[in-house]
Amino acid sequence: MVTDIAPGYDHITSAIGGAIAAANGADFLCYVTPAEHLRLPDLSDVKEGIMAAKIAAHAADIAKGIPGAREQDNRMSDARRRIDWEEMFACALDSKKAREYFESAPPSDKHSCSMCGKMCAMRTTNKILNGEKVEIL
Ligand code: SF4
Repeated sequence: MVTDIAPGYDHITSAIGGAIAAANGADFLCYVTPAEHLRLPDLSDVKEGIMAAKIAAHAADIAKGIPGAREQDNRMSDARRRIDWEEMFACALDSKKAREYFESAPPSDKHSCSMCGKMCAMRTTNKILNGEKVEIL
């Protein structure tokens, strides 16, 4: 753990330290839940802890140049560029959660998400590259 001042977020402090340790040669990461030193973790806490540790391990694999580690990220980047939501969900470490977030506030059209709407950088770039007129209002 890189700091001990974040009770309730110890899965994050642990994952930061885990990524650094694994990138420097640690072969095994223990997960920590957000409930650490606060209560007995529930199922949701355990899931959050495990997902944080998986992200740390994957980040370390990329940092170490492990063959194939970047491929899922590259596929995700390409899906983001094409605004291909199904491919993004397929590439996501937690496809179910990603889909639930997206579907909880769906955009008016599927060429962006509800964060930036018509000001979506990907949408704008794709329109420019396709020679289309860009309208943001
Ligand atoms: S609308 Fe914004 S946050 Fe959503 S995909 Fe586009 S750039 Fe990303």
